[in-house]
Amino acid sequence: MRKNASLVLLFACTILAAAGCQMPSQRTAGRPYLADEELISIHYLAGRLGMTVSQETNEKIILSNATNTAAIYPKLNQIYVNNEYLGSVGRIKKIDGLTHIRASVEAEIRGKLAKPAAEYTPKYQPPVKSDWEPSGKTVVIDPGHGGKDPGATSTHGFYEKTVNLDVALQVAQLLRNKGHKVIMTRDSDVFIELEERAAIANRSRANIFVSIHADSCATSSKNGFTLYVARSGSASSTRLADAIDNCMAQAKTGISSNSVRKADYRVLTHTRCPAVLIELGYLSNYWEAKQLRNVEMQKRLANAIADGITDYFRNR
Ligand SMILES: [Zn+2]
Repeated sequence: MRKNASLVLLFACTILAAAGCQMPSQRTAGRPYLADEELISIHYLAGRLGMTVSQETNEKIILSNATNTAAIYPKLNQIYVNNEYLGSVGRIKKIDGLTHIRASVEAEIRGKLAKPAAEYTPKYQPPVKSDWEPSGKTVVIDPGHGGKDPGATSTHGFYEKTVNLDVALQVAQLLRNKGHKVIMTRDSDVFIELEERAAIANRSRANIFVSIHADSCATSSKNGFTLYVARSGSASSTRLADAIDNCMAQAKTGISSNSVRKADYRVLTHTRCPAVLIELGYLSNYWEAKQLRNVEMQKRLANAIADGITDYFRNR
């Protein structure tokens, strides 16, 4: 009887994980900090500026790329771009361990960049680097949910769509630095239909499609990251999933692998190229949710995903 009950629970959980993930979340509990839309995470800011967060302490946050450095000093209330004083920091606060700053700072920093931001094409092209060579590969990165569809709500009150985007923006930047052409299905908090996400990959003749999500389940003890391919997915899809799974398992995030599974998510079945959906971990698990909002952990996960993609291309 007990065994039956736990089997039913496991079954319900699998259904929830498989079906609930791409549906707008019914859960509204938690701290609705996203109502405050004037604050953006510093990783989002960095992605918008074609930069990465290279340092973060309470005193100092550094955003940089090959040609520019922006230094934000929260306690001194000063921002410098390329060692030149830009202005005051203004509104800045930590939300679940992740620093958020007023959105208007993006335009201010952009105006002071040595390489005019106009030279970046709108969707986060890489900084020009002497060792940068185009790989000829096009990668579509799909941050799950967005806009009116928040995805799952974590035990800490933040939304899945935010974590998905924060990690995806970093993955995109890392891949661009490796020479890949990256197209994002969304690069801000907007709603995109599932079919449109797949259509973006098909229209762009992408080499691969990678969708980034975070899991949720009624059982708070359920944990781990999971890679999904479609049931009818190609061998290449499975090799891509294996490569990412392998790198994520070695990323020392403390989040363990549930390995590669099969599920017919619409973004997987509608894409023509090899396609993988990553569940980064469980937002319904207190510890994993905390990790998924941690800047260092997000960076590790993003690096692991980008490394897995690079391994896949290398071993083709
Ligand atoms: Zn999801």
